[in-house]
Amino acid sequence: MLERRDPVSLGWGPECHAALAPWRSATGPLALIEIRATGRLDRFSSTVHEIGVVLLEPDEAEISTASIVFDRGGLEHVVSPLDRPATLWSRGPARAMRPARSSRSEEAAVALRGLRRVLAGRTVVVHDAERVRDFLARNVDPALAQDMLLDLQELLALCHPDAPDLELGSLCRRLLGRDAGPGALDRALDLGCLLSAVAIGARAGTARYGEAKRILTERLPGSPWRALVDPAAGSTGTAAGAAFDFAAFARRSFAQQGSVEARPPDEGEAEEQRFLAIGETAEEPVPFELGAIAAALADAERGERHFPGYRVRKEQIELARQFVHVLQDGGVAKLEGGTGVGKSLAYLAAVIPFAMARAEAGEREAVVLSTRTKLLQDQLLHKDIAAAARFLGHPGLRALSIKGRANYVCERRLAAVLADAGDPAVQGEWQRDFALLEACARIRPAGEVGTGPAALHRLRPRLRELLRASVATRADQCSREQCGHEKRCPFGRHRRALAKAHLVVANHDLLLRWPPDYPAFSHVVADEGHELGGVAEEVYSIRIRPEEIEERLEVLFGAPVRRGQRRYATRGLVAASPTKSGVAALERNRSDLRLELDGLGSEMAAAADGYGGAELPSDAGRQRPAAARLAQSAAGRLEALASQALREGPERRFESGETSEGRAVDGLRNHAAEEEALRAITSHAEALLAAAHGLRMAFAVEHLAADNDAYVGAFEGLESPFDRWTLVLRPVDPGPAFREEFLGKVESLSVVSATLFVGGDDHAALGEIGLADTDSATHFSYSVASPFPYAQAMRVVALSEGVSLVEDTAMALATLARQLGGRTLGLFTSLARMREVAERLEVLLEGEGLEILVPLRASDDPGGLVERFRRLQGAAVMLGSRRYWQGIDVRGDDLQAVVIEKLPFDVPTELRRRRDLRLRAAGEDPFARASLGRMLLHLKQMAGRLIRSETDRGMVVIVDARPDRGYFRRLADAFPDGVAIERAGLEDLPRIAGELGLGTPRRLELKSTHATIDGIDGH
Ligand code: SF4
Repeated sequence: MLERRDPVSLGWGPECHAALAPWRSATGPLALIEIRATGRLDRFSSTVHEIGVVLLEPDEAEISTASIVFDRGGLEHVVSPLDRPATLWSRGPARAMRPARSSRSEEAAVALRGLRRVLAGRTVVVHDAERVRDFLARNVDPALAQDMLLDLQELLALCHPDAPDLELGSLCRRLLGRDAGPGALDRALDLGCLLSAVAIGARAGTARYGEAKRILTERLPGSPWRALVDPAAGSTGTAAGAAFDFAAFARRSFAQQGSVEARPPDEGEAEEQRFLAIGETAEEPVPFELGAIAAALADAERGERHFPGYRVRKEQIELARQFVHVLQDGGVAKLEGGTGVGKSLAYLAAVIPFAMARAEAGEREAVVLSTRTKLLQDQLLHKDIAAAARFLGHPGLRALSIKGRANYVCERRLAAVLADAGDPAVQGEWQRDFALLEACARIRPAGEVGTGPAALHRLRPRLRELLRASVATRADQCSREQCGHEKRCPFGRHRRALAKAHLVVANHDLLLRWPPDYPAFSHVVADEGHELGGVAEEVYSIRIRPEEIEERLEVLFGAPVRRGQRRYATRGLVAASPTKSGVAALERNRSDLRLELDGLGSEMAAAADGYGGAELPSDAGRQRPAAARLAQSAAGRLEALASQALREGPERRFESGETSEGRAVDGLRNHAAEEEALRAITSHAEALLAAAHGLRMAFAVEHLAADNDAYVGAFEGLESPFDRWTLVLRPVDPGPAFREEFLGKVESLSVVSATLFVGGDDHAALGEIGLADTDSATHFSYSVASPFPYAQAMRVVALSEGVSLVEDTAMALATLARQLGGRTLGLFTSLARMREVAERLEVLLEGEGLEILVPLRASDDPGGLVERFRRLQGAAVMLGSRRYWQGIDVRGDDLQAVVIEKLPFDVPTELRRRRDLRLRAAGEDPFARASLGRMLLHLKQMAGRLIRSETDRGMVVIVDARPDRGYFRRLADAFPDGVAIERAGLEDLPRIAGELGLGTPRRLELKSTHATIDGIDGH
């Protein structure tokens, strides 16, 4: 039944409804809809529990609400591959799915028909239209499949492209300073609050909404959102809207949230804003002295003032001492801090006073903190550093994060891309892509577009392509001094700020590729240090990409350009041939090269695995003769094109000027420009020659190749139309390059991780870069164990042999999930087996009310799925492969069991084989030191997902633990001291879980689904 209510009585502030008045008047009758369901409505079979509806009329002060609540089983919405009419399903008592014939289902159908009548003639606003469109179109009104839905996500993507994601909960926290409501009606009301927050921000002249308004006006003038951010565009508004002082309200509200800027910063402020906002602190500054740092960490009251729940930990203080030693004395420290030690604060407690002391002494070089991923980099900066600086009494710390240049908008390239949007042929959907591109470039801090939320790309898939075209990927693409856009360039400004920082947060990849135009450094702390070897392997590899070759040839010799309807050609740096035959020969050479590179990709695709990858044997020239012929021929053409570029030299350049007598002359030679062009030609030609060398090396015939022992080649991305592959030649021994190009240039390096040693050995983590086993006096290792009571909190079970790996894993997961009410994580070494197990679980757990969360692609970031698992309070089984082995942090009762299907040995590869040969030649046992060591390191990481806090409890189950193998007893090295591995059968799992007291009730039950179906009708 629809209820007419005063919006203030429903939690909307008086400003909320008033702010929407002009938009309501411009748009007409509106409906805000949210659906609460188990499972993703657009992906899996899912059960709908509640539909919340809020109706807004153009000129009415009251709103109408309705909540359609379904019974305990809910409405099961089947995303069917078959094109059949709308189908409602309900669960019967025997948990079998049957068509909706029961009276309850008929009541549901009546309610949905009522909803259809109510929605007729209204603009419908939802959050994440793709999620709900199919359900609404099938079950409410087919017209909703078309264009009647307005997606709030699209508006918020334009205004907040810098939000970490576009989930409703995150947006409520960001814009409203609170969580989203629990039920569907609460969340439908939240949609209204979010809309009004945007309207208020726009009226108050807030910079981001000003940008959004400009973008909508210029690119999407017909958008229904325009009247929300620009009331003048839509209607004259109402008395209610005009009476409210939005500017004053926005000032108060934003000041409380401390978040949204109310005007664009000027130049000086913009520079300051690039540094992390530390905030105020009354703490005495901690100097860079061992005693003072230890005393600060041992001060529980001081800690509590900055870190709620702070505990003094002797392990943390010990670890901090080691950081002080290495920063003071130089050298290399390899430091392991188990889970819960607080290693971030341990190193920040040493690094921040050290960086400040250096700055006071007039030292301009910043200290660099590096971590594995760009995401962790942002987390470290925003979550840890500001609080640590306040704790240590250093509010003046200047800290910023820097990524590779490909992460920042290049103003010059952006202008060229946006110029395409001006073409009359670019309309509608495409303009929405350009609008979001511009919003990302203008609203994201420092024009940083490399780490936008995945939701932006889901929303506008073409955005990725546009962003790629708007950044300068390589140093040679940024002409800097010659660039007319440099002053406005976000990347240029950020690079300038770098020189004034005390502390720079980077990622390992950038650390090892540090560009020559970035300020130098000499002290580094590398967190997630066990990843440094893998990154070095990639950084010191040789990469050949047809796409990059084509880009360089276009710069050298010119390119055909299509902009909208027009076609023309750009000129290259190299002087054009004076003869037609010369021009034709060049064109032929380029087009044959393209064909050969595409052919090479297509030829290798026959040998590719399911991910489009193919590793090359050491005698690929012999084993793959057809591919080798294409590679050799392409290499020849690359060499010919490079020599032609070097031989012909730059096009002559002229400028207007005057003679020494002051007479105006056109056509003076511009020697400076020609020299600049020659430098660029040389650099591109060298890159082409390097690619030619790489192709020859990859397809060498073994006994003829002098240097192919040093690298192993592998193709990646072998997918039709075969012009986007990469040939990577990875160094068998990246150690020498790591030492020469990085380690030799720094005074101190601290490598820190929660998993650096297995059985006291660091070879598995650091062996490839030569940091293990060093006997140098300046290298030392130190490990502090986790303070958690593992002996009481954790049990490890090696399952007895059963039917088959897939069946046993599925049964183990299902048994535990039933016993624990979900709260189970399954970790896999094979994607195919993971999917098979997921299918089995769908059957085994049917009717349990548990979700089965499975990543769609191996490369998917686990963040989204983990967030869903947390939101369900563990009422799910989450499955994951390699990307889930480390980094997942679910604390408390939500995760109580980790099932590992198989011991995580690396897949044997040519690269591993060659590295094993080197180890054997050095008198080592490659299996014990490398293969087994790496497996134990992975196992340690996997088991580390379970116990994340002092009070966590849980069990690890290894399905195929190979108890008959000699190395079985070594598995204990992967687990904390005091945790034994016990052998047990599937039937023992519930007992063991019971002994640990697992499966205790949840803190907060999901809102009851036991309910009636409210009738709903038009009014
Ligand atoms: S300075 Fe470099 S990155 Fe900035 S706009 Fe110019 S070319 Fe692009």
